[in-house]
Amino acid sequence: MKKKSLILALSLVISTLAGGCARPSVQEPEVYQLSSTAMGTLVTETIYTAGENPASSVLELLTQTEDQYLSWREEDSDIGRANLQAGQGAADVDGKTMEYLKETLQLSRDSGGAFDPTMGQLTRLWDVEAANPRIPGRKKIRQYLKESGYEKIHLNDSGTPQVELEEGVSIDLGAVGKGIGCDEAAELLQKDSQVQGAVVAVGGSVLTLGSKPDKSPWKVAVRDPRGTQEELLGVLNLVGETYVSTSGDYEKYFVQEGKRYHHILDPFTGYPADSGLISVTVLGKDGLISDGLSTACFVLGMEQGAELLEQYQAEGIFVDEKKQVYVTDGLMENFELSASGYVVFPLSP
Ligand code: ADP
Ligand code: MG
Repeated sequence: MKKKSLILALSLVISTLAGGCARPSVQEPEVYQLSSTAMGTLVTETIYTAGENPASSVLELLTQTEDQYLSWREEDSDIGRANLQAGQGAADVDGKTMEYLKETLQLSRDSGGAFDPTMGQLTRLWDVEAANPRIPGRKKIRQYLKESGYEKIHLNDSGTPQVELEEGVSIDLGAVGKGIGCDEAAELLQKDSQVQGAVVAVGGSVLTLGSKPDKSPWKVAVRDPRGTQEELLGVLNLVGETYVSTSGDYEKYFVQEGKRYHHILDPFTGYPADSGLISVTVLGKDGLISDGLSTACFVLGMEQGAELLEQYQAEGIFVDEKKQVYVTDGLMENFELSASGYVVFPLSP
């Protein structure tokens, strides 16, 4: 059994009742909603604004960010060109791509290599979304593992920004792309002084900004990692600018001989991460970081994952195989469990 890609790690529960009990004001906002695809995933937007509807501009920006900078499928994106040049010299990239890569590599170092954006070859080898996915041969895994490693990315920022990759390296920004999308969306929406509040979900990464007219918190639902697509683990009540990302073993996977093989790889083994966790949700102040941290924590496991979150002043929800839900102190009050069969515990530093 395998799940297709357009599945939300987080589904959104958004109260769309604009106005209603809200106090009338001169600049009463309208609510606009849009649901479409970009960055290879489902995008949903709810925007409260007294000005023009910016929803399609956000969508265009996401597509442009993917096509111009991030995509490893597009040969003429910055990452696509750097990958093609691997082992043959440096590729010129946009300043934005340079900034994304710097933050990404810092996360690789801070996570002790658990987060590694150079496993493009391994991701394609596993191809868990293929029609008939299967466990790859050990030899091939070992070879690609040897050719990967974040320290094989060399950034040159003096003059025109350049990226140079060692032979065999293939950058894959799948673990931060949707978070970067949220950062870009936030920048665009924050420039528009008429926008009073917004929720943008790019697959499993969600951005909340500002507030609803009635000032009630945004409700972002976390998916039940062992439920159907519509079933929720619980709801996060959030206020203002936040970035929430979830990584789980239920997103993209196949089952062979009773074992689940999913899309988050352990850079130390080349096999799907096996840290005892089935889902990690991270809440932080930056989209790229929250997205990257959720992947890193999934690989590291709860103990080391929680330490990494502390370092980044981020909060998190860790769900383990025993259906135990560990919530960091700063999120305890915001999280309401709704699924049955799970038990919540506080996770103190
Ligand atoms: P999703 O893309 O489903 O939201 P993640 O944000 O956790 O989930 O990203 C998983 C993707 O990141 C994989 O599909 C793969 O492209 C890439 N990836 C897999 N393992 C790692 C890892 N250890 N570090 C960095 N990127 C990874
Ligand atoms: Mg991620």
